[in-house]
Amino acid sequence: MARTTPPRPLDMQLLFPELAAYRKDTVRLHPRPGNPGPRESSLGGPLLWPQSVDWPHCDDDHGQFSPGAGALPLVPVLQLFAADVPELPFPSGTDVLQVLWCPFEHGYIPQPKLYWRDSSTCVGELTEYPRPAGAEEDYLPDPCVLHPEQVVDYPSWDLPDEVAEALKERFDRVGKETGYSYWQHLSVADGVKVGGYPTWTQEPFWPDCSACGQRMAHLLTVNSAEFDGASWRTWLPVEDTPDTGTIWDLPYEDRRLIQSPPGLMFGDMGGIYLFICQQCPDRPYTHWFDCS
Ligand SMILES: [Zn+2]
Ligand SMILES: [Zn+2]
Repeated sequence: MARTTPPRPLDMQLLFPELAAYRKDTVRLHPRPGNPGPRESSLGGPLLWPQSVDWPHCDDDHGQFSPGAGALPLVPVLQLFAADVPELPFPSGTDVLQVLWCPFEHGYIPQPKLYWRDSSTCVGELTEYPRPAGAEEDYLPDPCVLHPEQVVDYPSWDLPDEVAEALKERFDRVGKETGYSYWQHLSVADGVKVGGYPTWTQEPFWPDCSACGQRMAHLLTVNSAEFDGASWRTWLPVEDTPDTGTIWDLPYEDRRLIQSPPGLMFGDMGGIYLFICQQCPDRPYTHWFDCS
């Protein structure tokens, strides 16, 4: 079953033509619990891994878990094939992005690692993958299948101050008349996503590439939730909307499987944002984290 974000309830271009310059496409991945195979795009699923390449480990000090334990295996987070998410900036000769991370605390969050691969060189189908004992449960994703959907983002925290100032009165008026807040309901798509704007919960931090010095691009966001107590009104997919009542009337576990399907939690409903430099040939990357 596909997942479809409802169209924005208001005509953004008519109401706020100034936003046109800041519009960006983003791909909501819509993870949902499932049983993905190694040749499928997934969150927390098995990866298509090159037989000749050793599984990556984290050598950092993890306090009580490191002494004598040796290096700890990373865990699969995302596998994205070009056929499913062509919007990703695949370096030439590659058609799959694999994101793994070390599921122990690295400054309040796990430590991600990225691999761009040519799937035809990946013959070792790894179906059993490690889940290191003692890792943070909040950082171990439950396997999910994906339902990529392209939608439009408008900036919230990233909207320049002068534009926000110029639009303030109109935002307020529309909010009063319709009940839709630009910031909470109409701007940045919520959830796990590729491209567009990060789902910041605090002041943005855009890293510069350590190799060339240019500002890096937002590659993808791994979020604690697909929507919150406000954003569900516009970002809850049509297919997940109950026939009667709202999503908040569902039993807790039923809602949880729609709101936080992989069972990830970063701080207090935070997000991990991955950035990449598209100018440098070896695609340097880094990450940032914030929460409310
Ligand atoms: Zn580590
Ligand atoms: Zn660079």
